[in-house]
Amino acid sequence: MNFFKKVQDKFSPKRTETEVAPSVAAIPVPPVETASSAEAPKVGALDRVKSLIAVGSGKGGVGKSTVSLNLALALQQQGKKVGLMDADIYGPSQQHMTRAVRPKLLDGDLIEPSDYEGIKLISVAMFSNSGQAQLLRGPMAAQVIRQFLSQVAWGELDYLLIDLPPGTGDIQLTLAQIAPLSGAVLVTTPQEISLIDVRKAVSMFQTLNVPILGVVENMSYFICDSCEKKHYIFQQSGGKKLAAECGAPLLAEIPIDPRVAEASDDGRPMFVQHPSSTVGQAYTQIAEKVLAQEQMHRGSDGALGYFLLEWK
Ligand code: ADP
Repeated sequence: MNFFKKVQDKFSPKRTETEVAPSVAAIPVPPVETASSAEAPKVGALDRVKSLIAVGSGKGGVGKSTVSLNLALALQQQGKKVGLMDADIYGPSQQHMTRAVRPKLLDGDLIEPSDYEGIKLISVAMFSNSGQAQLLRGPMAAQVIRQFLSQVAWGELDYLLIDLPPGTGDIQLTLAQIAPLSGAVLVTTPQEISLIDVRKAVSMFQTLNVPILGVVENMSYFICDSCEKKHYIFQQSGGKKLAAECGAPLLAEIPIDPRVAEASDDGRPMFVQHPSSTVGQAYTQIAEKVLAQEQMHRGSDGALGYFLLEWK
């Protein structure tokens, strides 16, 4: 059965309750590479993808998906070919923010990613009805990720951004095992409550030998219409503190701007609608710094190489 059909079947509204939550034993999980595997993982559909960059956070709601999409657009404006994989299986929002259409099925069990403003995009939400819950056990979610990596015709890309779910669970570990990540961008809000969880993500990436390319502090401050002053609604400098802790640069402090949420809900993100706004300029700055950092961390062979997870 091809990938498209499998995902459609999984999310089809006519499924019965028992079919929606299959037992773990019934789910076809392919063998997992381990640290002892001598060979690099086989990820055929990524053959012409130069760099994979994860965008992660500790907590949900800090703006990670918004940053992923706008960063993809800003990287493209720097002349790069960019794709975006929505790995936030349980809370996919890339389809809502772009209205990207359902991908086409190609020959050989491959699917063609949607195109949004030149960005190649895939999200599980493209295969399900709006408002439908993503009822997937961990191994099935991991399987979707494997298929996004191996059965999507990504073609030639400079960067494939991966919008990770919050936390440090199954999906992150699956990616860590099979995808040659070149680096990670961390998104946080300034408050300590966000930093506590982002530090766990930092620790995960460090354990997995994935370089941290930088920290984005989102919702840093608010500029009101009348006084032009920066109001630090949450705490100040949390992102700077985190960046110093993990030895990575602070990529930008993005202000709170109600147009960000409006633009996302319109299906035309901030970088498309207001590229020269303060938020838009922050995304350009993030893209430039990410490119510089990625070049700096890049190995002499043009890739950082595969890292394999040592699960202890
Ligand atoms: P996450 O992926 O971390 O769960 P989202 O990207 O879905 O977070 O963002 C959560 C909400 O915050 C969305 O409504 C989004 O439009 C809004 N948002 C994100 N960044 C900003 C910002 N800088 N200013 C105003 N709203 C923002």
